[in-house]
Amino acid sequence: MPPPIFRVNDTRESFVMQEGSLRSVSALAAAGLIPEGQAAGLHAVAARYAVAITPNMVRIIDTGKPDDPIARQFVPTAAELITTPDERADPIGDDAHSPVKGIVHRYPDRVLLKALHACPVYCRFCFRREQVGPGGEMLSDDEIRAAIAYISDHPAIWEVILTGGDPLMLSPRRLGALLDALEAIPHVATLRIHSRVPIVEPARIGPALLAVLTRRKPLWIAVHSNHPRELTEAAKAACRSLTRAGATLLGQTVLLRGVNDDPAILEALFRAMVAERIKPYYLHHPDLAPGTAGFRLSIAEGREIMRVLRGRLSGLAQPTYVLDIPGGAGKVPIGPDMIEPGGVRDSAGRLHPYEQD
Ligand code: SF4
Repeated sequence: MPPPIFRVNDTRESFVMQEGSLRSVSALAAAGLIPEGQAAGLHAVAARYAVAITPNMVRIIDTGKPDDPIARQFVPTAAELITTPDERADPIGDDAHSPVKGIVHRYPDRVLLKALHACPVYCRFCFRREQVGPGGEMLSDDEIRAAIAYISDHPAIWEVILTGGDPLMLSPRRLGALLDALEAIPHVATLRIHSRVPIVEPARIGPALLAVLTRRKPLWIAVHSNHPRELTEAAKAACRSLTRAGATLLGQTVLLRGVNDDPAILEALFRAMVAERIKPYYLHHPDLAPGTAGFRLSIAEGREIMRVLRGRLSGLAQPTYVLDIPGGAGKVPIGPDMIEPGGVRDSAGRLHPYEQD
């Protein structure tokens, strides 16, 4: 069967950054987000890793606090230029599983399709920080057709996950054409989009975008959010619009030192997600991306946070704590492991005898 047609007929720019976004060290300094005297040392960081913060995120930063958890996610620091020996440019091994440009085929039943490498914000801990940025741009129409042809030629592919970059940065017309082509492939049963847009630039979730996100096949949108303060009224309204349009929302969170490495903060975040019909899906252990050592905590610390959450939170609000094995071997759940040689430990830390074969 020939692959479905991907045609946009749209010569306008495929995506635009939000007006008022801060995209340089000078703009961040002028907004009071970089302490006086530190800006000069950060130009080299911004030359290596893209910088952008949307007005919605700027508004919720407490500039009086040097360790504000929102600022920490987006404001560059000099430490990003230090790469530790275990860090790598492609920490989760996308390149090793890329049969055609834009596709990552790591598991038999699903592929990633990275159509665009731009984001509304640039997170300082990003695992694709060597790829994303204003210069990363998007696949050409021919490259998108080749990616669609690959999916069409592989009947085992049951799910297509649009990621990037941020797919909701695409113009509604371009995103709609892409979703139409993917939905037309008979063996693709379900579609998923990974996005920061509903949280950091909720105004983008307007009628034109919502219209193309209303699909015949199930559409899941994994919303990336790391701190309860990010769920502003505007972000919550955007998420409700997506749900009303027929998407099922999932929550994706990265466990980050100095941002959310506290059970109370994660509890508030996951409760707020569920209240907005967002099912917490994954809590990612931070990847070994270059210059991100300051965000990483140990797996033992992460497991302890998850153990505390087990005792406090409904299962509805529990994400799976996962690690992407460096190099590309895939994602694995990493705890908390309540089974021990002596028995099984409850969420309060007490060990109970339990016979195991
Ligand atoms: S939005 Fe996602 S892909 Fe973009 S910089 Fe942040 S973590 Fe990376």
